[in-house]
Amino acid sequence: MTHVFEAAASGRSKCRGCGRALQRGELRFGERIPNPFADGETTLWFHPLCAAYKRPEPVLEALTDSAAAVPDREVLERAARASLAQRRLPRIDGAERAKGQATCRQCREPIPRGAWRIRLVIYEEGQFSPSGFIHLACAKDYFETADILEHVLHFSPALGDAEREELRSALASH
Ligand SMILES: [Zn+2]
Ligand SMILES: [Zn+2]
Repeated sequence: MTHVFEAAASGRSKCRGCGRALQRGELRFGERIPNPFADGETTLWFHPLCAAYKRPEPVLEALTDSAAAVPDREVLERAARASLAQRRLPRIDGAERAKGQATCRQCREPIPRGAWRIRLVIYEEGQFSPSGFIHLACAKDYFETADILEHVLHFSPALGDAEREELRSALASH
């Protein structure tokens, strides 16, 4: 199985990491996996940086094997190595203000409506499934590192500048 970096042939596929479209001609990363539903293999497509954060192992494999020039190779490698170093980091799916009732996966206390929370996903056999939330204040204990801001912001494309700034200072204060 050989993972690939290549230009997207059409604008129809979506990134598994962030759910947004992969633009035609844009570089995309393909993780080759055994097809969970049939014989043979299937390919999961990602924006390269989304894959570096959420699927660091195949990205590093592909960067090592690929002779092709990959733009931003150092950025991808740094993100993938950081994500690989702490086993829970690939679960980060962005930040949002709490809508319903949820209990923090780290401290088991409720996350009040309107408070910032970090969304988690778990990867299993080619699928990312929602896996609950944690308080911002619990992020350091949960992820075993405080260095998560860029990673969280990457998967929060809907947030405006003011909200990003709020998150930045909230994370820095914990
Ligand atoms: Zn993406
Ligand atoms: Zn908590």
